[in-house]
Amino acid sequence: MTREECTLAIEGLSGQIDKYAELLVRKGLCVREGQEVVVQAPVECADFARRVVRLAYREGAGHVTVIWGDDAMARLEYENVPLEHFRHTPTWKVEQLNSLAEAGACFLFIEGSDPSALDGIDPAKPAAAAHARNTECLSFRNGMDFGKNVWCIAGAPVEAWARKVFPDCAPYEAVYRLWLAILKVARADGLDPQLDWETHNAAFEKNKGFLNDMAFDRLHYTSKNGTDLTLGLNAKGIWEGGAGRTVDGTVFFPNIPTEEVFTTPARTRVDGIVYSAMPLVHAGQIVDDFWLRFEGGRVVEYDAARGREVLRHIIETDENAAYLGECALVPKESPIHQSGLLFYNTLFDENAACHLALGFGFDECVKGFENMTKEELYEIGVNDAGNHTDFMIGSDDLSIDGVDEHGNVHPIFRNGTWAF
Ligand code: ZN
Repeated sequence: MTREECTLAIEGLSGQIDKYAELLVRKGLCVREGQEVVVQAPVECADFARRVVRLAYREGAGHVTVIWGDDAMARLEYENVPLEHFRHTPTWKVEQLNSLAEAGACFLFIEGSDPSALDGIDPAKPAAAAHARNTECLSFRNGMDFGKNVWCIAGAPVEAWARKVFPDCAPYEAVYRLWLAILKVARADGLDPQLDWETHNAAFEKNKGFLNDMAFDRLHYTSKNGTDLTLGLNAKGIWEGGAGRTVDGTVFFPNIPTEEVFTTPARTRVDGIVYSAMPLVHAGQIVDDFWLRFEGGRVVEYDAARGREVLRHIIETDENAAYLGECALVPKESPIHQSGLLFYNTLFDENAACHLALGFGFDECVKGFENMTKEELYEIGVNDAGNHTDFMIGSDDLSIDGVDEHGNVHPIFRNGTWAF
């Protein structure tokens, strides 16, 4: 396509992009009359962010705060500022995020980032910054973890990202193609995306319902690639997926797209070996072709053909970074898997395949979590760490069995998809 054709084609998508923005505001954020709305967006996505802000006001937002991000600026900071600086979040930033969360804001995180933006940067710096933010901005993090604040993560293209996903296209064509791909996998390419998301959510309800009714004690994963992993589930654990719900009953979609049904495994009951099925992109750096061996929940051995150092940083970020916080089931019919694309972005790639995550677990995956302290949740098996890093293990031949407390085995996945 010529540059002119691409410009016209993107203009032609304008109406659909508005429908997507509306989907985020209405199904992702559920903006209420008079509410504070926070939109975090890359400067390159200003046009899309403005559409979102306009719609948020139309839906009744009282005030919208926009927090701009920029890959190039982040890189300059990591290049020039010593590690020590990143061990703490600046006070004004803590105050900004905490005060907005305490005021009952809803948060939209628009992701669009060059996956290679931080190539060659000491991975300890972004790891320390993420850790500091997760442990110091407590009202902000707990507001989302404990169902007080509504939040939604969604994607919008920036050129460097688009070029990574479509390396054979000219930059302008890559951006157009990434818009098409995002609208498609976010199920926002139809006449009525909001209605499509209600249908999508019904499938989640069915799959979650089965897993929650069966209340399995543990899962057993096997694949031809060598994966043979037993993963214990919490006695009070619940499977989540699709829409989330705040304590005051607001139903919202925290991830657009989302294809996963997930829970938090029992921190100390993971044993065996698991092989990666896709590259892991972490803070702009890539780990590929890797495996992890667990004993008593902890990673005791690992290796990677590429990015072993990055993997080491993830595992050694803090004491609990070597334990799992998530296991998620995604069938291979997922539109993201079907697209055949590697997005180099967790929001998209984690919805391509079954995955696990190292680091903190999800409080809301435990019955009665609202009335438990972080310590109590940790005690019953929810990992508590500064980071949370997803990695894909869902090979096309993956089998997963659920084992109940009496040792009865029920198939959950066969050949990479639901088996019940
Ligand atoms: Zn996940």
